[in-house]
Amino acid sequence: MNTSFSKEFLAEMIEMLQQQKVRLERQLNDLTNKETGSAFPSYGEGEDESAEEVATYDANLQLLDSNQSEMRDIIESESRLAKGTYGICKYCNTPIDEQRLRARPTSSSCVACKKALTQEL
Ligand SMILES: [Zn+2]
Repeated sequence: MNTSFSKEFLAEMIEMLQQQKVRLERQLNDLTNKETGSAFPSYGEGEDESAEEVATYDANLQLLDSNQSEMRDIIESESRLAKGTYGICKYCNTPIDEQRLRARPTSSSCVACKKALTQEL
């Protein structure tokens, strides 16, 4: 199946997805404690520092969680680019608005379907 998007537009999306990936990888790297390899930071041995470590750890885990789901979206988008189904709404099979894709290259549904879905919730 071939999409109606121009080569230039698709190249732009590939570029955006790659940049997003680099940013996520950098964030992932920042969140990882270099000594332990986990998201648990080490500020020191004191009680205050421990409390701070736990708070940061919680925040880090949340970030990691959203980081991982963003990463999954990017990988999914890349595989759709490879298959030529990128930019097609997964619910109604119509092309997604280019502006929407520019704002969020990992979009997999059109505005109308997204709206319908959100209203169902
Ligand atoms: Zn749709």
